[in-house]
Amino acid sequence: MTDQPTRHVPADLPGRIQHYIGGAFVDSADGATFDVLEPVTNDVYLQAAAGKKADVDRAVAAARDAFVNGPWPRMLPRERSRILHRIADLVESRDARLAELESFDSGLPITQALGQARRAAENFRFFADLVVAQSDDTFKVPGRQINYVNRKPIGVAGLITPWNTPFMLESWKLGPALATGNTVVLKPAEFTPLSASLWAGIFEEAGLPEGVFNLVNGLGEEAGDALVKHPDVPLISFTGESSTGQLIFANAAPYLKGLSMELGGKSPAVVFADADLDAAIDATIFGVFSLNGERCTAGSRILVERAVYDEFVERYAEQAKRVVVGDPQDPRTEVGALVHPEHYDKVVSYIEIGKTEGRLVAGGGRPEGFETGNYVAPTVFADVPSSARIFQEEIFGPVVAITPFDTEEEALALANGVRYGLAAYVWTNDLRRAHNFSQAIEAGMVWLNSNNVRDLRTPFGGVKASGLGHEGGYRSIDFYTDQQAVHITLGKVHNPTFGKGA
Ligand code: NAD
Repeated sequence: MTDQPTRHVPADLPGRIQHYIGGAFVDSADGATFDVLEPVTNDVYLQAAAGKKADVDRAVAAARDAFVNGPWPRMLPRERSRILHRIADLVESRDARLAELESFDSGLPITQALGQARRAAENFRFFADLVVAQSDDTFKVPGRQINYVNRKPIGVAGLITPWNTPFMLESWKLGPALATGNTVVLKPAEFTPLSASLWAGIFEEAGLPEGVFNLVNGLGEEAGDALVKHPDVPLISFTGESSTGQLIFANAAPYLKGLSMELGGKSPAVVFADADLDAAIDATIFGVFSLNGERCTAGSRILVERAVYDEFVERYAEQAKRVVVGDPQDPRTEVGALVHPEHYDKVVSYIEIGKTEGRLVAGGGRPEGFETGNYVAPTVFADVPSSARIFQEEIFGPVVAITPFDTEEEALALANGVRYGLAAYVWTNDLRRAHNFSQAIEAGMVWLNSNNVRDLRTPFGGVKASGLGHEGGYRSIDFYTDQQAVHITLGKVHNPTFGKGA
Protein backbone atom coordinates (compact mmCIF):
# COMPACT_ATOMS: atom_id res chain seq x y z
CA MET A 1 0.00 0.00 0.00
CA THR A 2 1.43 3.34 -1.03
CA ASP A 3 0.19 6.70 0.19
CA GLN A 4 -1.06 9.26 -2.27
CA PRO A 5 2.09 11.31 -2.91
CA THR A 6 2.38 14.83 -1.55
CA ARG A 7 1.81 17.35 -4.27
CA HIS A 8 4.58 19.85 -4.99
CA VAL A 9 3.65 23.06 -6.79
CA PRO A 10 6.46 25.08 -8.43
CA ALA A 11 6.80 28.70 -7.34
CA ASP A 12 5.70 31.55 -9.63
CA LEU A 13 3.47 29.54 -11.94
CA PRO A 14 1.92 31.77 -14.59
CA GLY A 15 -1.89 31.90 -14.49
CA ARG A 16 -2.21 32.53 -18.22
CA ILE A 17 -0.15 32.30 -21.36
CA GLN A 18 -0.50 34.16 -24.64
CA HIS A 19 0.61 33.82 -28.23
CA TYR A 20 3.93 35.34 -29.27
CA ILE A 21 3.68 37.07 -32.63
CA GLY A 22 6.11 39.45 -34.30
CA GLY A 23 8.14 39.88 -31.11
CA ALA A 24 5.20 40.58 -28.76
CA PHE A 25 3.00 38.54 -26.42
CA VAL A 26 -0.61 38.88 -27.55
CA ASP A 27 -4.06 37.48 -26.78
CA SER A 28 -6.25 35.81 -29.37
CA ALA A 29 -8.04 38.19 -31.71
CA ASP A 30 -11.38 37.08 -30.22
CA GLY A 31 -9.99 36.91 -26.64
CA ALA A 32 -10.71 33.14 -26.41
CA THR A 33 -8.77 30.91 -24.02
CA PHE A 34 -8.71 27.22 -23.13
CA ASP A 35 -8.14 25.41 -19.84
CA VAL A 36 -4.92 23.57 -19.06
CA LEU A 37 -5.08 20.87 -16.37
CA GLU A 38 -2.50 19.73 -13.86
CA PRO A 39 -2.14 15.91 -14.29
CA VAL A 40 -1.77 15.21 -10.57
CA THR A 41 -5.14 16.73 -9.60
CA ASN A 42 -6.79 17.46 -12.94
CA ASP A 43 -7.50 20.96 -11.62
CA VAL A 44 -7.37 23.81 -14.12
CA TYR A 45 -4.23 25.77 -13.31
CA LEU A 46 -3.66 27.78 -16.47
CA GLN A 47 -5.58 29.65 -19.15
CA ALA A 48 -3.93 29.59 -22.56
CA ALA A 49 -4.85 31.81 -25.48
CA ALA A 50 -6.92 29.77 -27.95
CA GLY A 51 -5.66 30.66 -31.41
CA LYS A 52 -7.84 30.45 -34.49
CA LYS A 53 -7.41 31.32 -38.15
CA ALA A 54 -7.12 35.09 -37.49
CA ASP A 55 -4.24 34.51 -35.04
CA VAL A 56 -2.48 32.08 -37.36
CA ASP A 57 -2.85 34.60 -40.19
CA ARG A 58 -1.21 37.24 -38.00
CA ALA A 59 1.65 34.91 -37.00
CA VAL A 60 2.29 33.78 -40.57
CA ALA A 61 2.29 37.40 -41.77
CA ALA A 62 4.91 38.28 -39.12
CA ALA A 63 7.03 35.24 -40.02
CA ARG A 64 6.70 35.95 -43.73
CA ASP A 65 7.72 39.57 -43.22
CA ALA A 66 10.78 38.48 -41.21
CA PHE A 67 11.66 36.03 -43.96
CA VAL A 68 11.28 38.47 -46.85
CA ASN A 69 12.58 41.64 -45.23
CA GLY A 70 14.51 40.61 -42.13
CA PRO A 71 18.17 39.70 -41.66
CA TRP A 72 17.75 36.09 -40.54
CA PRO A 73 17.69 34.21 -43.89
CA ARG A 74 20.48 36.41 -45.20
CA MET A 75 22.91 35.90 -42.31
CA LEU A 76 25.93 33.68 -42.77
CA PRO A 77 25.43 30.24 -41.23
CA ARG A 78 28.10 31.00 -38.63
CA GLU A 79 26.25 34.15 -37.55
CA ARG A 80 23.04 32.18 -37.05
CA SER A 81 25.08 29.44 -35.41
CA ARG A 82 26.35 31.86 -32.76
CA ILE A 83 22.79 32.79 -31.80
CA LEU A 84 21.77 29.13 -31.69
CA HIS A 85 24.65 28.38 -29.33
CA ARG A 86 23.48 31.23 -27.11
CA ILE A 87 20.01 29.67 -27.10
CA ALA A 88 21.56 26.35 -26.03
CA ASP A 89 23.48 28.13 -23.24
CA LEU A 90 20.28 29.76 -21.98
CA VAL A 91 18.35 26.49 -22.05
CA GLU A 92 21.15 24.82 -20.10
CA SER A 93 21.30 27.59 -17.54
CA ARG A 94 17.52 27.24 -16.97
CA ASP A 95 17.28 23.48 -17.16
CA ALA A 96 16.08 23.00 -13.58
CA ARG A 97 13.23 25.49 -13.97
CA LEU A 98 12.32 24.12 -17.39
CA ALA A 99 12.21 20.61 -15.98
CA GLU A 100 10.11 21.70 -13.01
CA LEU A 101 7.51 23.39 -15.22
CA GLU A 102 7.50 20.63 -17.84
CA SER A 103 7.05 17.98 -15.18
CA PHE A 104 4.21 19.93 -13.54
CA ASP A 105 2.43 20.52 -16.85
CA SER A 106 2.89 17.07 -18.42
CA GLY A 107 3.20 14.68 -15.46
CA LEU A 108 6.67 13.53 -16.56
CA PRO A 109 8.99 12.52 -13.71
CA ILE A 110 11.24 15.46 -12.94
CA THR A 111 14.54 13.66 -13.45
CA GLN A 112 13.41 12.59 -16.92
CA ALA A 113 12.11 16.10 -17.69
CA LEU A 114 15.55 17.42 -16.73
CA GLY A 115 17.18 15.00 -19.18
CA GLN A 116 14.79 16.20 -21.88
CA ALA A 117 15.58 19.89 -21.19
CA ARG A 118 19.31 19.15 -21.55
CA ARG A 119 18.63 17.24 -24.71
CA ALA A 120 16.79 20.30 -26.08
CA ALA A 121 19.96 22.38 -25.53
CA GLU A 122 21.99 19.68 -27.23
CA ASN A 123 19.67 19.71 -30.25
CA PHE A 124 20.29 23.43 -30.70
CA ARG A 125 24.05 22.98 -30.33
CA PHE A 126 24.07 20.11 -32.77
CA PHE A 127 22.26 22.00 -35.54
CA ALA A 128 24.28 25.15 -34.82
CA ASP A 129 27.43 23.17 -35.57
CA LEU A 130 25.96 21.21 -38.47
CA VAL A 131 25.03 24.23 -40.61
CA VAL A 132 28.54 25.58 -40.23
CA ALA A 133 30.09 22.23 -41.14
CA GLN A 134 27.76 21.82 -44.12
CA SER A 135 29.56 22.38 -47.41
CA ASP A 136 27.48 22.95 -50.51
CA ASP A 137 28.21 20.55 -53.34
CA THR A 138 30.25 21.86 -56.27
CA PHE A 139 30.90 19.73 -59.35
CA LYS A 140 33.39 20.38 -62.14
CA VAL A 141 31.83 19.17 -65.36
CA PRO A 142 33.61 18.50 -68.70
CA GLY A 143 33.27 21.43 -71.12
CA ARG A 144 34.47 23.94 -68.53
CA GLN A 145 31.27 23.87 -66.53
CA ILE A 146 30.81 24.25 -62.86
CA ASN A 147 27.61 23.10 -61.21
CA TYR A 148 26.86 23.88 -57.64
CA VAL A 149 24.01 23.45 -55.20
CA ASN A 150 22.66 26.60 -53.65
CA ARG A 151 21.00 25.60 -50.40
CA LYS A 152 18.28 28.09 -49.49
CA PRO A 153 15.86 28.39 -46.60
CA ILE A 154 12.33 27.70 -47.79
CA GLY A 155 10.28 30.30 -45.95
CA VAL A 156 7.81 30.04 -43.08
CA ALA A 157 7.98 26.60 -41.50
CA GLY A 158 4.86 25.39 -39.66
CA LEU A 159 5.85 23.24 -36.67
CA ILE A 160 3.12 21.17 -35.00
CA THR A 161 4.13 19.20 -31.93
CA PRO A 162 2.65 16.65 -29.50
CA TRP A 163 2.36 16.69 -25.70
CA ASN A 164 4.93 14.00 -24.93
CA THR A 165 8.33 15.55 -24.07
CA PRO A 166 7.00 18.78 -25.61
CA PHE A 167 9.96 21.13 -25.05
CA MET A 168 12.50 18.63 -26.40
CA LEU A 169 10.41 17.74 -29.45
CA GLU A 170 9.93 21.43 -30.21
CA SER A 171 13.72 21.90 -30.12
CA TRP A 172 14.09 19.01 -32.56
CA LYS A 173 12.16 21.06 -35.13
CA LEU A 174 13.10 24.62 -34.09
CA GLY A 175 16.85 23.86 -34.13
CA PRO A 176 17.19 22.84 -37.80
CA ALA A 177 14.40 25.14 -39.08
CA LEU A 178 16.12 28.19 -37.58
CA ALA A 179 19.70 27.07 -38.25
CA THR A 180 18.96 26.91 -41.97
CA GLY A 181 17.47 30.43 -42.05
CA ASN A 182 13.72 29.79 -42.07
CA THR A 183 11.24 31.66 -39.93
CA VAL A 184 8.70 29.64 -37.97
CA VAL A 185 5.24 29.41 -36.51
CA LEU A 186 5.06 26.84 -33.70
CA LYS A 187 1.73 25.29 -32.68
CA PRO A 188 2.37 23.26 -29.52
CA ALA A 189 0.03 20.61 -28.13
CA GLU A 190 -2.95 21.94 -26.22
CA PHE A 191 -2.48 19.53 -23.28
CA THR A 192 1.00 20.94 -22.51
CA PRO A 193 1.49 24.52 -23.71
CA LEU A 194 3.50 25.79 -20.71
CA SER A 195 7.11 25.07 -21.69
CA ALA A 196 6.61 26.32 -25.27
CA SER A 197 5.80 29.76 -23.88
CA LEU A 198 9.33 29.92 -22.45
CA TRP A 199 11.00 29.83 -25.86
CA ALA A 200 10.08 33.47 -26.58
CA GLY A 201 12.10 34.87 -23.64
CA ILE A 202 15.04 32.61 -24.43
CA PHE A 203 15.07 33.63 -28.10
CA GLU A 204 14.77 37.35 -27.28
CA GLU A 205 17.68 37.12 -24.86
CA ALA A 206 19.80 35.20 -27.35
CA GLY A 207 19.27 37.90 -30.00
CA LEU A 208 16.98 36.12 -32.45
CA PRO A 209 15.54 38.87 -34.68
CA GLU A 210 11.90 39.84 -34.21
CA GLY A 211 9.35 37.85 -36.20
CA VAL A 212 11.63 34.85 -36.77
CA PHE A 213 9.92 32.81 -34.03
CA ASN A 214 6.16 32.94 -33.61
CA LEU A 215 3.97 30.88 -31.34
CA VAL A 216 0.25 30.26 -31.64
CA ASN A 217 -1.41 28.20 -28.92
CA GLY A 218 -4.70 26.50 -29.55
CA LEU A 219 -6.58 23.39 -30.52
CA GLY A 220 -5.41 21.17 -33.34
CA GLU A 221 -8.61 21.44 -35.34
CA GLU A 222 -8.50 25.24 -35.10
CA ALA A 223 -4.96 26.68 -34.86
CA GLY A 224 -3.22 23.56 -36.24
CA ASP A 225 -5.66 23.24 -39.12
CA ALA A 226 -5.28 26.94 -40.06
CA LEU A 227 -1.50 26.57 -40.14
CA VAL A 228 -1.67 23.49 -42.37
CA LYS A 229 -4.03 25.25 -44.78
CA HIS A 230 -2.17 28.58 -44.89
CA PRO A 231 -0.88 29.23 -48.43
CA ASP A 232 2.20 31.13 -47.17
CA VAL A 233 3.47 28.15 -45.17
CA PRO A 234 5.33 25.94 -47.66
CA LEU A 235 6.34 23.22 -45.24
CA ILE A 236 4.90 21.48 -42.22
CA SER A 237 6.85 19.39 -39.77
CA PHE A 238 4.38 17.36 -37.74
CA THR A 239 4.79 14.96 -34.85
CA GLY A 240 1.70 13.26 -33.47
CA GLU A 241 -0.79 10.48 -34.04
CA SER A 242 -0.95 8.62 -37.32
CA SER A 243 -4.63 9.52 -37.80
CA THR A 244 -3.83 13.24 -37.40
CA GLY A 245 -0.93 12.80 -39.82
CA GLN A 246 -3.31 11.35 -42.42
CA LEU A 247 -5.64 14.32 -42.04
CA ILE A 248 -2.78 16.82 -42.32
CA PHE A 249 -1.47 14.98 -45.37
CA ALA A 250 -4.88 15.38 -47.07
CA ASN A 251 -5.30 19.01 -45.97
CA ALA A 252 -1.81 19.97 -47.21
CA ALA A 253 -2.23 18.16 -50.55
CA PRO A 254 -3.89 21.04 -52.46
CA TYR A 255 -0.86 23.23 -51.62
CA LEU A 256 1.75 20.51 -52.38
CA LYS A 257 3.56 21.40 -49.17
CA GLY A 258 6.75 19.82 -47.97
CA LEU A 259 5.76 17.40 -45.22
CA SER A 260 7.66 15.58 -42.54
CA MET A 261 5.61 13.23 -40.41
CA GLU A 262 6.79 11.56 -37.22
CA LEU A 263 3.82 9.41 -36.21
CA GLY A 264 2.74 6.66 -33.83
CA GLY A 265 4.34 3.34 -33.06
CA LYS A 266 3.83 -0.14 -31.63
CA SER A 267 7.43 -1.20 -31.58
CA PRO A 268 8.56 -4.78 -30.95
CA ALA A 269 11.37 -5.83 -28.63
CA VAL A 270 12.44 -9.30 -29.76
CA VAL A 271 14.28 -11.36 -27.16
CA PHE A 272 16.02 -14.54 -28.35
CA ALA A 273 16.93 -17.30 -25.88
CA ASP A 274 20.67 -16.64 -26.30
CA ALA A 275 20.35 -12.98 -25.25
CA ASP A 276 21.79 -11.46 -22.10
CA LEU A 277 18.50 -11.74 -20.23
CA ASP A 278 19.46 -9.35 -17.40
CA ALA A 279 20.27 -6.61 -19.87
CA ALA A 280 17.20 -7.35 -22.00
CA ILE A 281 14.88 -7.15 -18.99
CA ASP A 282 16.40 -3.91 -17.68
CA ALA A 283 16.29 -2.30 -21.09
CA THR A 284 12.77 -3.39 -22.01
CA ILE A 285 11.45 -2.26 -18.60
CA PHE A 286 13.02 1.14 -19.18
CA GLY A 287 11.96 1.19 -22.84
CA VAL A 288 8.26 0.95 -22.10
CA PHE A 289 7.83 2.52 -18.65
CA SER A 290 10.18 5.53 -18.77
CA LEU A 291 8.54 8.80 -19.84
CA ASN A 292 5.34 7.25 -18.38
CA GLY A 293 5.17 4.98 -21.41
CA GLU A 294 4.27 8.11 -23.39
CA ARG A 295 7.16 7.49 -25.74
CA CYS A 296 6.75 7.10 -29.50
CA THR A 297 9.54 4.52 -29.68
CA ALA A 298 8.35 2.50 -26.64
CA GLY A 299 8.99 -1.22 -27.08
CA SER A 300 5.41 -1.98 -26.10
CA ARG A 301 5.28 -5.50 -27.60
CA ILE A 302 7.87 -7.90 -26.25
CA LEU A 303 8.34 -11.09 -28.25
CA VAL A 304 10.23 -13.75 -26.31
CA GLU A 305 11.61 -17.10 -27.51
CA ARG A 306 9.74 -19.98 -25.87
CA ALA A 307 12.85 -21.50 -24.17
CA VAL A 308 13.20 -18.45 -21.87
CA TYR A 309 9.59 -17.23 -21.98
CA ASP A 310 8.39 -18.30 -18.52
CA GLU A 311 11.53 -17.04 -16.81
CA PHE A 312 11.35 -13.75 -18.72
CA VAL A 313 7.68 -13.15 -17.88
CA GLU A 314 8.15 -13.90 -14.20
CA ARG A 315 11.23 -11.70 -13.79
CA TYR A 316 9.77 -8.94 -15.94
CA ALA A 317 6.53 -8.80 -13.94
CA GLU A 318 8.46 -8.72 -10.65
CA GLN A 319 10.61 -5.83 -11.84
CA ALA A 320 7.60 -3.93 -13.24
CA LYS A 321 6.00 -4.10 -9.79
CA ARG A 322 9.09 -2.43 -8.32
CA VAL A 323 8.96 0.59 -10.67
CA VAL A 324 8.36 3.64 -8.45
CA VAL A 325 5.12 5.46 -9.26
CA GLY A 326 4.79 8.86 -7.61
CA ASP A 327 4.48 12.63 -7.75
CA PRO A 328 6.17 13.78 -10.96
CA GLN A 329 8.05 16.45 -8.98
CA ASP A 330 9.65 13.88 -6.65
CA PRO A 331 13.17 12.96 -7.83
CA ARG A 332 12.61 9.32 -6.77
CA THR A 333 9.65 8.91 -9.12
CA GLU A 334 10.11 6.69 -12.18
CA VAL A 335 6.53 6.81 -13.51
CA GLY A 336 4.53 9.98 -12.88
CA ALA A 337 0.96 10.90 -13.81
CA LEU A 338 -0.38 10.58 -17.36
CA VAL A 339 -0.81 13.86 -19.15
CA HIS A 340 -4.58 14.35 -19.13
CA PRO A 341 -7.75 12.63 -17.89
CA GLU A 342 -8.83 11.92 -21.50
CA HIS A 343 -5.57 10.10 -22.10
CA TYR A 344 -5.84 8.36 -18.72
CA ASP A 345 -9.31 7.06 -19.68
CA LYS A 346 -7.94 5.78 -23.00
CA VAL A 347 -5.06 3.92 -21.34
CA VAL A 348 -7.29 2.43 -18.64
CA SER A 349 -9.84 1.31 -21.23
CA TYR A 350 -7.06 -0.55 -23.06
CA ILE A 351 -6.10 -2.21 -19.78
CA GLU A 352 -9.69 -3.41 -19.38
CA ILE A 353 -9.62 -4.74 -22.95
CA GLY A 354 -6.27 -6.40 -22.20
CA LYS A 355 -7.79 -8.29 -19.28
CA THR A 356 -9.97 -10.15 -21.81
CA GLU A 357 -7.15 -10.66 -24.31
CA GLY A 358 -4.10 -11.69 -22.26
CA ARG A 359 -2.94 -12.78 -18.80
CA LEU A 360 -2.44 -9.85 -16.42
CA VAL A 361 0.82 -10.37 -14.50
CA ALA A 362 1.50 -6.86 -13.10
CA GLY A 363 -0.42 -3.64 -12.54
CA GLY A 364 -3.88 -3.45 -14.04
CA GLY A 365 -5.09 0.09 -13.40
CA ARG A 366 -4.79 2.77 -10.73
CA PRO A 367 -2.05 1.90 -8.22
CA GLU A 368 -3.15 1.24 -4.67
CA GLY A 369 -3.16 4.34 -2.48
CA PHE A 370 -3.54 6.80 -5.37
CA GLU A 371 -7.06 8.15 -5.10
CA THR A 372 -6.80 11.04 -7.56
CA GLY A 373 -4.73 12.08 -10.57
CA ASN A 374 -3.87 10.24 -13.76
CA TYR A 375 -1.78 7.50 -12.15
CA VAL A 376 -1.51 4.09 -13.79
CA ALA A 377 0.51 1.20 -12.36
CA PRO A 378 3.06 -0.29 -14.78
CA THR A 379 0.94 -2.99 -16.39
CA VAL A 380 2.14 -6.21 -17.98
CA PHE A 381 0.09 -8.69 -19.99
CA ALA A 382 1.56 -12.07 -20.95
CA ASP A 383 0.36 -14.63 -23.54
CA VAL A 384 -1.05 -11.89 -25.76
CA PRO A 385 -2.08 -13.17 -29.21
CA SER A 386 -1.16 -11.10 -32.25
CA SER A 387 -4.84 -10.54 -33.03
CA ALA A 388 -5.35 -8.72 -29.71
CA ARG A 389 -6.07 -5.00 -29.77
CA ILE A 390 -3.41 -4.46 -27.10
CA PHE A 391 -0.92 -6.08 -29.50
CA GLN A 392 -2.03 -4.08 -32.56
CA GLU A 393 -2.94 -0.60 -31.30
CA GLU A 394 -0.81 2.16 -29.81
CA ILE A 395 -1.73 2.65 -26.14
CA PHE A 396 0.91 5.28 -25.33
CA GLY A 397 1.00 4.52 -21.61
CA PRO A 398 2.79 2.20 -19.16
CA VAL A 399 1.31 -0.98 -20.63
CA VAL A 400 3.18 -3.82 -22.32
CA ALA A 401 2.12 -7.00 -24.13
CA ILE A 402 4.37 -10.09 -24.02
CA THR A 403 4.02 -12.86 -26.63
CA PRO A 404 6.00 -16.10 -27.04
CA PHE A 405 7.52 -17.35 -30.31
CA ASP A 406 9.14 -20.61 -31.41
CA THR A 407 11.10 -19.79 -34.56
CA GLU A 408 12.91 -16.83 -36.06
CA GLU A 409 10.36 -16.76 -38.93
CA GLU A 410 7.50 -16.59 -36.47
CA ALA A 411 9.23 -13.79 -34.54
CA LEU A 412 9.67 -11.80 -37.74
CA ALA A 413 6.03 -12.29 -38.77
CA LEU A 414 4.90 -11.14 -35.32
CA ALA A 415 7.29 -8.17 -35.32
CA ASN A 416 6.07 -7.01 -38.73
CA GLY A 417 2.42 -7.92 -38.21
CA VAL A 418 1.16 -4.47 -37.22
CA ARG A 419 0.44 -1.29 -39.21
CA TYR A 420 3.26 0.64 -37.52
CA GLY A 421 7.01 0.60 -38.22
CA LEU A 422 8.78 3.13 -36.03
CA ALA A 423 11.38 1.33 -33.90
CA ALA A 424 12.45 -2.23 -33.10
CA TYR A 425 14.76 -3.74 -30.50
CA VAL A 426 16.54 -7.05 -30.98
CA TRP A 427 18.24 -8.99 -28.21
CA THR A 428 20.54 -11.85 -29.26
CA ASN A 429 24.21 -12.73 -29.02
CA ASP A 430 24.24 -14.32 -32.48
CA LEU A 431 25.86 -11.65 -34.64
CA ARG A 432 24.67 -13.00 -37.98
CA ARG A 433 21.09 -13.37 -36.78
CA ALA A 434 21.16 -9.92 -35.18
CA HIS A 435 21.94 -8.25 -38.50
CA ASN A 436 19.82 -10.46 -40.74
CA PHE A 437 16.81 -10.15 -38.47
CA SER A 438 17.22 -6.39 -38.05
CA GLN A 439 17.40 -5.84 -41.77
CA ALA A 440 14.18 -7.80 -42.31
CA ILE A 441 12.25 -5.84 -39.70
CA GLU A 442 9.90 -3.17 -41.02
CA ALA A 443 11.05 -0.33 -38.79
CA GLY A 444 12.72 3.01 -39.37
CA MET A 445 15.13 2.43 -36.48
CA VAL A 446 16.53 -0.75 -34.95
CA TRP A 447 18.43 -1.03 -31.71
CA LEU A 448 20.54 -4.17 -31.35
CA ASN A 449 21.28 -5.18 -27.75
CA SER A 450 20.76 -1.52 -27.00
CA ASN A 451 18.13 0.88 -25.80
CA ASN A 452 17.23 4.18 -27.44
CA VAL A 453 20.73 5.66 -27.38
CA ARG A 454 21.45 7.33 -30.71
CA ASP A 455 23.83 9.79 -32.27
CA LEU A 456 22.08 12.95 -33.48
CA ARG A 457 23.58 12.48 -36.94
CA THR A 458 21.54 9.33 -37.60
CA PRO A 459 18.15 9.49 -39.32
CA PHE A 460 15.07 9.43 -37.10
CA GLY A 461 11.69 8.36 -38.44
CA GLY A 462 9.37 5.50 -39.20
CA VAL A 463 7.94 3.47 -42.05
CA LYS A 464 4.37 2.27 -42.73
CA ALA A 465 1.87 4.15 -40.52
CA SER A 466 4.70 5.53 -38.36
CA GLY A 467 5.80 8.31 -40.63
CA LEU A 468 6.84 9.93 -43.79
CA GLY A 469 10.41 11.09 -44.33
CA HIS A 470 13.22 11.19 -41.85
CA GLU A 471 14.62 13.97 -39.73
CA GLY A 472 17.94 13.96 -37.89
CA GLY A 473 21.39 15.12 -38.96
CA TYR A 474 21.60 16.19 -42.60
CA ARG A 475 18.08 14.84 -43.28
CA SER A 476 16.74 17.72 -41.21
CA ILE A 477 18.92 20.17 -43.11
CA ASP A 478 17.61 18.75 -46.40
CA PHE A 479 14.00 19.02 -45.24
CA TYR A 480 14.30 22.66 -44.23
CA THR A 481 16.18 23.82 -47.35
CA ASP A 482 15.62 24.06 -51.08
CA GLN A 483 18.55 22.65 -52.98
CA GLN A 484 18.73 24.78 -56.07
CA ALA A 485 21.11 23.46 -58.77
CA VAL A 486 23.08 26.24 -60.51
CA HIS A 487 24.98 25.45 -63.73
CA ILE A 488 27.58 27.85 -65.20
CA THR A 489 29.55 27.40 -68.36
CA LEU A 490 32.96 29.03 -68.12
CA GLY A 491 34.03 28.12 -71.66
CA LYS A 492 32.08 28.18 -74.91
CA VAL A 493 28.34 27.59 -74.78
CA HIS A 494 27.25 24.20 -76.21
CA ASN A 495 25.31 23.66 -79.45
CA PRO A 496 26.45 26.93 -81.08
CA THR A 497 25.09 25.80 -84.50
CA PHE A 498 21.64 24.75 -83.34
CA GLY A 499 18.86 26.76 -85.08
CA LYS A 500 21.14 28.33 -87.63
CA GLY A 501 20.10 26.14 -90.56
CA ALA A 502 22.04 23.48 -92.47
P1 NAD B 1 -2.05 14.42 -31.88
O1 NAD B 1 -1.96 13.94 -33.27
O2 NAD B 1 -3.36 14.35 -31.19
O3 NAD B 1 -1.61 15.96 -31.79
C1 NAD B 1 -0.34 16.40 -32.20
C2 NAD B 1 -0.42 17.87 -32.57
O4 NAD B 1 -1.25 18.01 -33.71
C3 NAD B 1 -1.04 18.76 -31.49
O5 NAD B 1 -0.37 19.99 -31.47
C4 NAD B 1 -2.46 18.93 -32.00
O6 NAD B 1 -3.07 20.11 -31.53
C5 NAD B 1 -2.23 18.99 -33.49
N1 NAD B 1 -3.41 18.67 -34.30
C6 NAD B 1 -4.45 17.87 -33.99
N2 NAD B 1 -5.34 17.85 -35.00
C7 NAD B 1 -4.86 18.64 -35.98
C8 NAD B 1 -5.31 19.01 -37.27
N3 NAD B 1 -6.48 18.58 -37.76
N4 NAD B 1 -4.54 19.84 -38.01
C9 NAD B 1 -3.36 20.28 -37.54
N5 NAD B 1 -2.88 19.98 -36.31
C10 NAD B 1 -3.63 19.16 -35.54
O7 NAD B 1 -0.92 13.65 -31.10
P2 NAD B 1 -0.64 13.69 -29.53
O8 NAD B 1 -1.70 12.90 -28.85
O9 NAD B 1 -0.37 15.10 -29.11
O10 NAD B 1 0.77 12.93 -29.45
C11 NAD B 1 0.91 11.57 -29.26
C12 NAD B 1 1.22 10.88 -30.57
O11 NAD B 1 2.43 11.41 -31.12
C13 NAD B 1 1.46 9.40 -30.44
O12 NAD B 1 0.82 8.71 -31.49
C14 NAD B 1 2.98 9.26 -30.56
O13 NAD B 1 3.44 8.02 -30.99
C15 NAD B 1 3.27 10.34 -31.55
N6 NAD B 1 4.67 10.73 -31.48
C16 NAD B 1 5.51 10.35 -32.51
C17 NAD B 1 6.86 10.67 -32.46
C18 NAD B 1 7.79 10.26 -33.56
O14 NAD B 1 8.88 10.80 -33.63
N7 NAD B 1 7.40 9.36 -34.45
C19 NAD B 1 7.37 11.39 -31.37
C20 NAD B 1 6.49 11.75 -30.34
C21 NAD B 1 5.14 11.42 -30.42
